[in-house]
Amino acid sequence: MRLQNYALGQWVAGTGAGTDLHHAVTGEKVAEASSAGLDFGAMAHYARTVGGPALRTMTFHERALMLKAMAKYLMERKDSLYALSSATGATKGDSWVDIDGGIGTLFVYASKGRREFPNETFHIDGPMENLSKNGTFVGRHLCVPLEGVAVHINAFNFPCWGMLEKLSPTLLAGMPAIVKPATLTSFLTEAMFRMMIESGIFPEGAIQLICGSAGDLLDHLTMQDAVAFTGSASTGHMLKAHPTVAANAVRFNMEADSLNCAIMGPDALPGTEEFDLFIKEVTREMTTKAGQKCTAIRRTIVPEGAMEDVIRALTKRLGDVKVGDPAVDGVKMGPLAGRPQVGEVHRSLDAIKGGAEVVFGGNDNFDIVGADRSKGAFFPITLLACNNPRERTQSHDVEAFGPVNTVMPYAAVGDAIELARMGKGSLVGSVFTADDRVAREVVLGMAPYHGRVYVLNRHSAKEATGHGSPLPHLVHGGPGRAGGGEEMGGARGVLHYMQRTAIQGSPTTIARITNEWITGAAQSGDRVHPFRKHFEELQVGETLLTHRRTVTETDIVNFACLSGDHFYAHMDEIAAKESIFGRRVAHGYFVLAAAAGLFVHPAPGPVLANYGMENLRFTKPVYAGDTIQVTLTCKSKTAKETPADGPPQGVVAWDVNVKNQDGELVATYTILTLVRRLTAPAPSIPA
Ligand code: NAP
Repeated sequence: MRLQNYALGQWVAGTGAGTDLHHAVTGEKVAEASSAGLDFGAMAHYARTVGGPALRTMTFHERALMLKAMAKYLMERKDSLYALSSATGATKGDSWVDIDGGIGTLFVYASKGRREFPNETFHIDGPMENLSKNGTFVGRHLCVPLEGVAVHINAFNFPCWGMLEKLSPTLLAGMPAIVKPATLTSFLTEAMFRMMIESGIFPEGAIQLICGSAGDLLDHLTMQDAVAFTGSASTGHMLKAHPTVAANAVRFNMEADSLNCAIMGPDALPGTEEFDLFIKEVTREMTTKAGQKCTAIRRTIVPEGAMEDVIRALTKRLGDVKVGDPAVDGVKMGPLAGRPQVGEVHRSLDAIKGGAEVVFGGNDNFDIVGADRSKGAFFPITLLACNNPRERTQSHDVEAFGPVNTVMPYAAVGDAIELARMGKGSLVGSVFTADDRVAREVVLGMAPYHGRVYVLNRHSAKEATGHGSPLPHLVHGGPGRAGGGEEMGGARGVLHYMQRTAIQGSPTTIARITNEWITGAAQSGDRVHPFRKHFEELQVGETLLTHRRTVTETDIVNFACLSGDHFYAHMDEIAAKESIFGRRVAHGYFVLAAAAGLFVHPAPGPVLANYGMENLRFTKPVYAGDTIQVTLTCKSKTAKETPADGPPQGVVAWDVNVKNQDGELVATYTILTLVRRLTAPAPSIPA
C-alpha cells in the first residue's frame, strides 16, 4: 500500500520508488511512503492563505469546541488504529499512550481553551501596566495568531500522540499546520490523519500531511511561520541552522535527545515503599515502548551502599519481562520500531559500554516469544553499572534509544544532583524519597538542568502519572542537550504559536481595542440598573455609582456575631488601639457584604448567579462612622455555551471599587456573574 500525502486539500500519492516500511515484528512490508512530486512551497502558501484565515475568524472557544468534536470523532474510531499500531512494535499499553494519550491531549486543550482563553480571536496576556503619573498612558500585552504555517516534524516513536500534542495548541492558537511524521511509522499517522480529514471538522487548509521526505519545505518558510521539531539532536541542529530558518528568524522549537535520570533518595532503602516504587518505575521506563521514549530513564542514580540491592532487584524484575510479539498474551515488551533502529541502538550501547559494565542482557542471547528473531526488530533489555560515573562519562553522553539503562552510585545528595546535571540538560528527572528536605534539595538543584522534575513517594504513588508521561497541562521540553525547547504546558503551549505584542495608549483606547475595561478608561452610565440587563444589552465600560452607607459600631458588632469573627481588631477596644489600626475597624468581609448590598438589584432578573471574586485587595481600613460608596463597572463579557439544563448565558466580569467619604479606595476586586442571554448562539462546530 502506498501512503498518501494530503496537500492543497487533496490526497496525493508521491511519485518515484518510495521508501518501504516494515512490520516491526514480522519484517513484512506494510506500506511505502513517498512525498516526491509535492509542491512544498504551494503547501505552505495554501496553509497561509486558506487554513490560516479560516482559523483566525474563529474565537478560542470555537476552536476549542472544534478540538473537542475531533477528539470525540477519533475516540469512536480508535480501535482500527490499535490494530495498525502493533505493526510499529507497540504493545497494547504502548498504543494506549500513543492513541488514547493523543486524543486525551485534544480533550485537555478543548477544555482549557474554553476555560483559560476568552471567547475572542485574540488573547490578553496579563494585567494593565501603568506607565504614567496620572494614568493617561498605559500598556497591555496582546497575543494574536501568527499568520503563517506551523511545520510539525515528528519522531517515529509516537506516531499519533506526536501529531496531536503539537496540533492541539497550534490549532487552538489559530494557526494551520503541515504535519511531517517520521517516515518509519508514518503509516499509523496517515491512518489517524485520514480520519481527521474524513470528519470534515477542521476547516479547509487547517492541516496537511507529508509522508516521506520534507523536501524543500523549509526553503519556503517566512517570518510568520514556525517549526516544531522532535527527533535527534543531530537532525534538530541541522534544521535549526537551515539558512532560511536563520535568515527569516523562523520560530524553531526543538525537542531532542535526553539522558533522563531517576534518583533513589538516601531514605528509599530496601524494605521501604519508596524502594519498591523506584524499582518498579525504572523497570517500566526501560521496557515501555521498548525504551523508545524521549523521557525514558537512562541513568539510575542510587546511594553507594545500595548498588548491589538495586542491581539485584532490577535484574529480577527485568528478567520477568517477556519480550516478543505484542499480540501474544503475556508479552510485555515488543521490538524496536524498525530494524534500522536495532543497529543504531547497538552502536550507542557499544559506546556506553566503554564506560560501564553490562550486568543484565546486552547480547542477542535472549528469549523472544512468538516471533522470528531474524525478522523482527528485537533488542535485548540491557542494564549496565558504572562505579565511577564522574570519570567514566559515556552514560552521561550517549543516548541509546532503546531498553538500555546505567546504574551509578552517589555518596551524598549533592553528588546525586551533580550526576543528574551531567546529562547536560534533560527532559525529566525523578527523585524517589519520603523525605521532603531531600525532595526540596534535589528539585532546586536539578531544576536549571531539567524541563520537569517528578517526585514520587508513598503519598503520591497511587495517583501519580509516571516519570515518563508528558502531560498536556505541564510543559514538556528541556534545556541544553534536550533541545532548549518547550511545548504544551496548557495555555503556555498555545502562546508559542502567537505573537505577543505590547500595546501602549490611553486607557480608553486600549479598552476599546481589547474590549476590556481598565482603570482610567471612559465609563458610561444608564438609567437602567445593570443587573436589569441581559448579556447582550450590557456595554463594556457601563458603570453604576451606588447610594452611600455609613458604617456604624452596631454593624461591626452585628457582623461579628453573625459571622463568628470576633478578631481583636474589630471587637477589643484596647487591643485594637495598640494594633496597626489605632482603633476598632470594620471587618473586610463586612465591607464586601455591605458593598454587595449597595450594588445588587434585588428583584428577579437576568443575573442568574454570582459565581466568584478575583483580585481582592483591602487598601484602607473602614472605621465606624465612615461612609462607603461603590462604583460597579462592566469590565468584560464572555459568551458561554448554553448548558443542556439551563438558559443561554454568559459571564460578566465587574470591576468593583469601594471608596470612603474622602474618596479614598478602601477595597477593590472583580466579581463574576452569570447573566442570561436573550438568544442562544447557533453552534458553529458540528456536534
Ligand atoms: P530523527 O532521525 O532526527 O528524525 C526526526 C524527524 O526529522 C523525522 O520526522 C525525520 O523524517 C525528520 N527529518 C530528518 N531529516 C530531515 C530533513 N533534512 N528535513 C526535514 N525533516 C527531517 O529522529 P528519530 O529517529 O525519528 O527519533 C529518535 C530521536 O528522537 C531520539 O534521539 C529521541 O531522543 C528523540 N526524541 C525526542 C523527543 C522529545 O520530545 N524530546 C521525543 C521523541 C523522540 P524522516 O523520518 O523522514 O527521516
